[in-house]
Amino acid sequence: MAEQSTERCSWCGDPIEPNDGWRLQEVPGARKAAFCRLEHAVPWKIQGARWDAGEIAEPRGLADALDSCARCGARLDDVHLVLVRHRGEHRIPDAFCSVDHMADWAKSGGRWGPA
Ligand SMILES: [Zn+2]
Ligand SMILES: [Zn+2]
Repeated sequence: MAEQSTERCSWCGDPIEPNDGWRLQEVPGARKAAFCRLEHAVPWKIQGARWDAGEIAEPRGLADALDSCARCGARLDDVHLVLVRHRGEHRIPDAFCSVDHMADWAKSGGRWGPA
């Protein structure tokens, strides 16, 4: 499959357009996942977090400014997660210390949800 082909949600299998959805990457990167909706990260994690091999294709340095977990504020370890929202031309990254905190954050609505 070509790199630029339409991706599918790691949870429900729905196709995700390149300028929509969410991409999750473990850093340093060898595992990735994608979600059509942020909420789908929650059941995905509960069911055992099935990763795909590979790296997401994002602009270099996109998440360089992130140094703490969006959920708990802890300083990021060498191994952490980056979740990127695709919204039209925009790429909006958030970082997490663990899959648990990414799912907690997703559950509460992400950036725009209630605190
Ligand atoms: Zn989905
Ligand atoms: Zn955290």
